[in-house]
Amino acid sequence: MKVSIDQTKCAVCGSCVAICPEVFEMKDNGTVDVKDEFKGVDIPQELVEKVKEAQSMCPATAIVIEE
Ligand code: SF4
Repeated sequence: MKVSIDQTKCAVCGSCVAICPEVFEMKDNGTVDVKDEFKGVDIPQELVEKVKEAQSMCPATAIVIEE
C-alpha cells in the first residue's frame, strides 16, 4: 500500500502528522507531506492501520492511498 498527499487539497491542519508521525511530516517550506523514505514505496505493514486512520480523519480528503 502506497500513500501520498494531494498538495492541491491539503489544508496543512497537521492532523495526519499527529496521528502518524512515522509517515507524515511538516516540511520546512510549510507544507505537510509523506516522508521522503516512504514516497512511492509500500508502507510497512505495522503502519498501515495508522495511515488509514490518518486518511479517514483528513478534513480535506487529501490523503491518497493506492493498494
Ligand atoms: S490531515 Fe489532510 S489536510 Fe491535514 S495536513 Fe494531513 S493531508 Fe493535509
